[in-house]
Amino acid sequence: MTRAESDDRSAQAPTIDLDAVREKYRQERDKRTAGRTYQSARGDFGRYAKDPYTEWQEREPLTDEVDVAVVGAGIGGLLTGARLREETGLERIRLIDEAGDVGGTWYWNRFPGVRCDVESYIYMPLLEETGTIPTEKYSTGPEIFAHLQRIARKYDLYRDALFQTAVTELRWDEAAGKWLVSTDRGDLIRARYVAMSIGLMHRPKLPGLPGLETFAGHSFHTSRWDFDYTGGDSTGGLTKLKDKTVGVIGTGSTTIQLAPHLAEWAERLVLFQRTPATVDVRGNRPTQADWADSLEPGWQQRRMENFHALTSGIPQDEDLVQDRWTQTTAQLAAAILPTGDTGGDPKERALAAERADFLKMEELRARIDSVVTDPATAAALKPYYRVYCKRPCFHDGYLQTFNRPNVTLVDTQGQGVERLTPAGVVANGREYPVDCLVFATGYEHEFAVPYTDRAGYDIVGRGGVKLSEKWADGAHTLHGLQVNGFPNCFILSKVQAGRHVNIAYMLGEQTRHLAHIVKSVEERGHRVVEASETGEKEWVEEILRLATNALDFLENCTPGLYNNEGDPSGLPLLNSSYGGGSVEFVNILRRWREAGDLAGLELR
Ligand code: NAP
Repeated sequence: MTRAESDDRSAQAPTIDLDAVREKYRQERDKRTAGRTYQSARGDFGRYAKDPYTEWQEREPLTDEVDVAVVGAGIGGLLTGARLREETGLERIRLIDEAGDVGGTWYWNRFPGVRCDVESYIYMPLLEETGTIPTEKYSTGPEIFAHLQRIARKYDLYRDALFQTAVTELRWDEAAGKWLVSTDRGDLIRARYVAMSIGLMHRPKLPGLPGLETFAGHSFHTSRWDFDYTGGDSTGGLTKLKDKTVGVIGTGSTTIQLAPHLAEWAERLVLFQRTPATVDVRGNRPTQADWADSLEPGWQQRRMENFHALTSGIPQDEDLVQDRWTQTTAQLAAAILPTGDTGGDPKERALAAERADFLKMEELRARIDSVVTDPATAAALKPYYRVYCKRPCFHDGYLQTFNRPNVTLVDTQGQGVERLTPAGVVANGREYPVDCLVFATGYEHEFAVPYTDRAGYDIVGRGGVKLSEKWADGAHTLHGLQVNGFPNCFILSKVQAGRHVNIAYMLGEQTRHLAHIVKSVEERGHRVVEASETGEKEWVEEILRLATNALDFLENCTPGLYNNEGDPSGLPLLNSSYGGGSVEFVNILRRWREAGDLAGLELR
């Protein structure tokens, strides 16, 4: 919300029966609590995680030494490399990734219709540094992937990179003051520093259904799209599906973007829904040349910060991005920040927030009625929960899909698909035969699955202590980035760090911080840097002090990723993001750097 809008608002709100709303939302939550099990795409189901995009390249094992080993070549890994190149004289920076190229999520996610759901001008990193202007307000996956390759080229990060390589262990060699990086290719790499940016959700998961292994048709996960089977590419053209019935399990952000393409090309599309997503207006448009020409140096960071503040409910003089992310926050904040009142009775504020939330959800439900012609389908597509219970989705073609004669929505009334058979999918007691089954069932999430499990390797620090042991009850860090007992090691994640919808922005700030620390160590002639016991303890105390904020909210949400499938108190509090908000988190990092005393770190 801009300041002008904030001043204009009054505290008036229509009369809403909040008890009735809460009861409805409670019913919707409660009917979704059972059977929420998942099957990891590993072991017997490892084929669902296999890379369909790059041919396997044999190579000899490598034994050598680099300055920095970076695990993960997605946005976080690339930004780490780029910032270290800019800030330090370190020459040998090695990205290591299981994928066949850089790109992270944009390497893996090539499904038809894939786009970023955050504006490209603030999501795609280093636009000014690379002289790039995205072609659209919301870029396609291929455009983002190509940009990430551009970054790798500009900062010379391909030179030392290792792809199709999985780290199997990181072990600190105290005598040498270096890390030993082992991989599944038999490599043994020494590195002075290690940084890890393994992704927030990178391990695909399947629904934990009886009969999962019995399905005899073709099947794959959305992050491993089988274009050999479907034909076409990320922009569509799925010509090989013209005589196929395709089933999709899941209706999250991925399916919202994917479904219109499947509907266009498949003979029949059957969508199995457990919980409807919110689908707000997208309003994508091509980049205007005169707008791009008018941009002044420093524009991208300013735009990112403007969006970051607005979507954190902090009024700004203007809204540069002006999309449904910023406008929704404005709508919700307007109710609780009326003129001149930034404090007030917490109970009244909570009620005002709840009313505003209901009105926003009503707006989204009305949008469904205005687009979907069949009333029963429209009713089934309506979400009943609070706005941020799930990642909001934005699309201007998804709802229209349900007006097509070849599309069937199977609403499972919150129960989910029951089981698979050799021929297809059983839901609501009925079998739906399909030729092809697409699992749009998401990923193992960083708040729920222990870090080293998701990573697929352990990190053995000073004195042989394993990170899996140290973090057995949850994370212990300084600023989410460094861990006592794990020298010269940096972890990029949202755990004990800032959490924000524009993940690329947060990674930009975290890697700025990382590079500052490495530069300081190098400039001061030290070899080793580590979070001190006290530095880590104080940060962990701060995380715990602020951690319970959202529990009430999450407990009342329909089950899903954000609330640990309906059990938010089952999540280790230690794995929370910084509870004071991501704007304050970024300010904490900034103030820390400005102070220049490297507080909470030990240098040797
Ligand atoms: P997701 O959000 O985790 O959605 C998984 C879907 O599978 C949910 O609809 C879930 O239903 C459903 N499901 C699971 N088991 C089921 C069962 N047995 N029967 C029926 N349905 C079942 O996965 P996603 O859509 O791939 O998105 C993952 C993340 O990627 C999102 O958080 C999003 O942030 C990100 N993403 C981003 C973009 C972008 O534009 N940047 C695009 C796509 C995805 P419930 O809701 O009931 O659990």
